[in-house]
Amino acid sequence: MSCYSECDCSCGPEGEKFDSIIRSETNFGITSNDLIHSNMGWFCGFDNLKQIRWPISKDDGVYILWEKNDYCSEHNLFHSKAIYVGKGQVKTRIYRHAKNKGFTEENLVYFTFVDIENRKAKYIEQLLLDLYDFPLNKAEKRGVNKFCGYITQGEADFGSM
Ligand SMILES: [Zn+2]
Ligand SMILES: [Zn+2]
Repeated sequence: MSCYSECDCSCGPEGEKFDSIIRSETNFGITSNDLIHSNMGWFCGFDNLKQIRWPISKDDGVYILWEKNDYCSEHNLFHSKAIYVGKGQVKTRIYRHAKNKGFTEENLVYFTFVDIENRKAKYIEQLLLDLYDFPLNKAEKRGVNKFCGYITQGEADFGSM
């Protein structure tokens, strides 16, 4: 039985397919746990750039945008669904999303990122796109599985303003 009503997944391992492939093909030492839980922040609306919760790196990396959309009262975890994966200069890119992506004022968009060299970020982005469906990525859509994270209240509240 699913832990959530908005998704058929349950609290537990995250991104197992990603982990097994990246482990067999690279020695980057990056796991889906890193992608889902590192440097979590959020922005809200595209007009209000003050409402970006730091920290955001100025360096190259790979980042994911998330929608937090459900709660499991048995495990006390929030369901977050990956909606976009990107790479590049994380700070610039996330600002651009906050300004341009057309997210509404009410929707808090969460982000996570890892700092990593661009050529590795490219690999990670490609592997994620091959395996999973990111609804806001227009190009190179191939994956069909959902990339889901399970986050605690503490993570969701971290660094509140
Ligand atoms: Zn899910
Ligand atoms: Zn659960």
